[in-house]
Amino acid sequence: MNGGRFILASGNKGKLREFREILEPMGIEIVSQKEAGLDLDVEETGETFEENAWLKASAVCAASGMPAVADDSGLCVDALGGAPGVHSARFGGGKAWTDQQKYEYLLEKLAGVQDRRAKFVSCICCVFPGGDVLRARGECRGRIMETPAGDGGFGYDPVFCPDGYEGTFASLGEDVKNRISHRARALAAFAKELENYADR
Ligand code: IMP
Repeated sequence: MNGGRFILASGNKGKLREFREILEPMGIEIVSQKEAGLDLDVEETGETFEENAWLKASAVCAASGMPAVADDSGLCVDALGGAPGVHSARFGGGKAWTDQQKYEYLLEKLAGVQDRRAKFVSCICCVFPGGDVLRARGECRGRIMETPAGDGGFGYDPVFCPDGYEGTFASLGEDVKNRISHRARALAAFAKELENYADR
């Protein structure tokens, strides 16, 4: 299948790498904002992953004139009532903090907490210049470890262990992560949507 060419509405290198690893074998080409010469940081003012994904994809589609795809994602921790959720990138000290500072802050908040259950969520939105919109969602349940492990992935990967595994996303390696992650599931659903869209 030749699935087309899309600009990824994100400056996150971890997301870009995973989008490419998962979608390129399906014949879907991903162009980064940088490659497209687009310096745009869309403000994520929505209250849901779906809203923020749409804000990013529609802004980048309008600015580039190309079909744009965005992922809004985050970590929802049961014992924190679903936080940091849509605020995952801004948790603690905000965007100025490194990923490590953010996951260490999370571990501090969960110190002594027995219930470590959590899930990652990814919402994909794709906007075409004609106005058509495709959406997909994926989740991956797991738990927050007591201590970080591994140096793969990005964000909260060193502290998240998916259900059915004993290691973190950062230590299990990209092959495992790209098979079972929230983003892998959302992108598989997106690829199906895209196939149906192309057949219309
Ligand atoms: P946003 O979608 O740009 O708002 O950022 C999502 C944030 O959630 C990232 O900056 C990470 O902190 C976190 N996140 C999303 N997906 C992942 C993942 O696959 N692994 C680790 N952290 C993630």
